[in-house]
Amino acid sequence: VNTVLSYNPKQPPLAISISLPAWLPDFVSGCSIGHRNNSDLFLPSSQDRVGFAIALAAENCRHGSGGPFGAAIVERESGRLIAPGINLVVASHCSNAHAEMVAIALAQSILGTFNLGNAELPAMELVTSVEPCAMCFGAVPWSGVRSLLCGARDEDARSIGMDEGSKPQDWVKELESRSIVVHRDILRAESLKVLLDYQAGGGAIYNGRS
Ligand SMILES: [Zn+2]
Repeated sequence: VNTVLSYNPKQPPLAISISLPAWLPDFVSGCSIGHRNNSDLFLPSSQDRVGFAIALAAENCRHGSGGPFGAAIVERESGRLIAPGINLVVASHCSNAHAEMVAIALAQSILGTFNLGNAELPAMELVTSVEPCAMCFGAVPWSGVRSLLCGARDEDARSIGMDEGSKPQDWVKELESRSIVVHRDILRAESLKVLLDYQAGGGAIYNGRS
């Protein structure tokens, strides 16, 4: 049996971090979806928002930096992009690094608050290329977002072998009971195509028990 590393108080890790890939800033600044005002990207329609998340997923696959999932936090009314997110599970050695979790954590870091529902902030929306898995579903109410936009369905992710975990049967109703509005099936076929291309390209299926 090999001895594995453990927490060493003599040389302790000082942070847990998730590195964002080098292509991300250029992708956001060169993005042709929506419109721009100085350095701000505005994604006015639901199609713009989910289309942006899908484009992130496709770009993540193209660069080999992670799985076929993209997400974003936007201001709900204006569509102003607060933070992008992409799946970084394998590269960051972190099973938590799903696109939604990365977008939420990055937005909270940029805004300097753990609560995106903070009364001083405009209402925030989580956008995701594929419906949230059990972990990300659980993270939605904790994040403080007021609404959720989804592209492909969780069964689309399962169809390529991804484990979505156990969610309540009516997870949409669970979120709506907390006043989080959910819209599904926005550009579902486009998002499914990214999943299928990833599978066809031999992309890693990184479930913990696989
Ligand atoms: Zn997830």
